[in-house]
Amino acid sequence: MTITKRSAMGPEDFKRCASFHGHICPGLAIGYRAARAGLEKLSDQRALDEELVAVVENKACGVDAVQVLTGCTFGKGNLVYRDHGKHVFTFFHRDSGKGVRVSLRAGALNWGDEHRLLLRKIRKGEATMEERGRFQTLHLLKGEEILEMPLEDLFELRDVRVSPPPKAEIEASVPCDACGEPTMASRLEERNGKRFCKECAGRVKGP
Ligand SMILES: [Zn+2]
Ligand SMILES: [Zn+2]
Repeated sequence: MTITKRSAMGPEDFKRCASFHGHICPGLAIGYRAARAGLEKLSDQRALDEELVAVVENKACGVDAVQVLTGCTFGKGNLVYRDHGKHVFTFFHRDSGKGVRVSLRAGALNWGDEHRLLLRKIRKGEATMEERGRFQTLHLLKGEEILEMPLEDLFELRDVRVSPPPKAEIEASVPCDACGEPTMASRLEERNGKRFCKECAGRVKGP
């Protein structure tokens, strides 16, 4: 991949990701590299207007970069989340199902002992202000390191063929019998002959 307009905080399109996400972190850098790799791999086969779909196997920072760069979002139904807790991102064309699976290599990140120790202290609420500052510095450096790493050291890329997910759902709404709020009919639950939204159904007894 080519990074243009380099600066201390990374290329221009990385800055867009950072402003959407709210901060710079290693996770965002991973998502950025994954999305760039996916887009570059698909660009030669990509027809204009053909819809891209992203399947993400975590819901961490990196997914924000995927949304900014690929334009795949929950609202359009072309961002699919699978709760696998893995840094794996699959990008493919909805029509052809042809795509690429981008997965983080084991050991690619190589966190240092100091970084790990500080993270543990912060999680336990035991870090001093100074230690928090040091952690932030290490975090930024790790993010930059990820931006600069050779792609093949960071990820494994594999060609895949995927069956597309359903398009964004559009369906008539029906008022819930308890709160009265319009709810997608397929999401209502029946209790004693009445239909409730999931929130209200949780408060109603009975089969
Ligand atoms: Zn983050
Ligand atoms: Zn309700």
